[in-house]
Amino acid sequence: MPILSTAATRFADAVYADRLRRASAEAESRGIGALLVTPSADYEYLLGYRAPAMERLTCLIVASEAPPALVVPLLEEPLARNALGAMAEEIEILPWDETADPFHLVRDRLKGQLRIGLQDQMWSRFVLRLKALLEPAELVDAGPAIGAVRRVKQPEEVERLAAAAAAADDAMLAILAERLSGTTEVEVSRRISSLLVEAGHETAEFAIVASGPNSASPHHDPGDRVITSGDALVLDIGGLRAGYSSDTTRTAFVSEAPPDFAALYDVLQRAHLAACEAVAPGIPARDVDRAARHVIDEAGYGAAFTHRTGHGIGMETHEEPYIVESNAEPLVAGNAFSIEPGIYIEGVWGARIEDIVVCTETGGERLNSTSTELAIVD
Ligand code: ZN
Ligand code: ZN
Ligand code: ZN
Repeated sequence: MPILSTAATRFADAVYADRLRRASAEAESRGIGALLVTPSADYEYLLGYRAPAMERLTCLIVASEAPPALVVPLLEEPLARNALGAMAEEIEILPWDETADPFHLVRDRLKGQLRIGLQDQMWSRFVLRLKALLEPAELVDAGPAIGAVRRVKQPEEVERLAAAAAAADDAMLAILAERLSGTTEVEVSRRISSLLVEAGHETAEFAIVASGPNSASPHHDPGDRVITSGDALVLDIGGLRAGYSSDTTRTAFVSEAPPDFAALYDVLQRAHLAACEAVAPGIPARDVDRAARHVIDEAGYGAAFTHRTGHGIGMETHEEPYIVESNAEPLVAGNAFSIEPGIYIEGVWGARIEDIVVCTETGGERLNSTSTELAIVD
């Protein structure tokens, strides 16, 4: 997680008040009386600041019948108050000193709720204490309730995703214009990381550079292989800008692409387009996956498309909704996700095209704007 001041990423207080209200309503609709949220992306999403995850319990309590409460170690109360600003007045802050038991503070606050949602990455040391103390309450995964809120991006979030996507596009165009043959994958990866930052990201999060036969490995770890003429080259890059992620992939060929690679790439490009065009509110997420897979299957490459078509994106690079056969949930306006079909021929080459797409009332809107044509590089 990058270090970035709260002031640089925080939205207006009303945004967080709305998120807390929506989370509480989602919990209630699932029969969950309260959500317990320890430091995580969920915590940052709901409160607008990052609290350190450590052995001392920090826990946001979102319950339907009471204002939100925040159990914090006494020494972190100033951090919380400073970050929350005027919003601190709407939240009951419950500091605990080194000799107190914060778990009792949580229990007293829950007032006998019988179904409680725990943030899905909560540490087991906290889960086990809470479980013992909250008997006979049922503890459930808060992920679906919070995910239901997070996966519907509000306009201010779509703006951030668009700005991150534009920065990643700038970095992609810059690297594709450079001479890449004669350099190693890891050198190109480092160069991309600095281009991502130059283009406006606070941090580069990943820069996959997969050349030649390595391009058949979707999550290849860039190594010492020297890029040469006749290589396929998959570049999958992303960073964080103002707290939101970018993630884009383009495939290049060093010098002229042979006809069989061009044919494979043409199938991929059509699959990518078909998936982008399938996006609309009310369409099950799986239908977007099927749209891409159908084109690839028909062309005889079905077995070479070895992963789902995409993943949601926001504060985290991978979040809901997942664009996969097992997800029958209908898309709604505000969903933001990648569309990234790939075709991988082991030992030979591979290709992938990835854009971030937002579902709007009228269909899918691509946030990446670089050409999806096969790039020819030197
Ligand atoms: Zn991936
Ligand atoms: Zn990617
Ligand atoms: Zn991705």
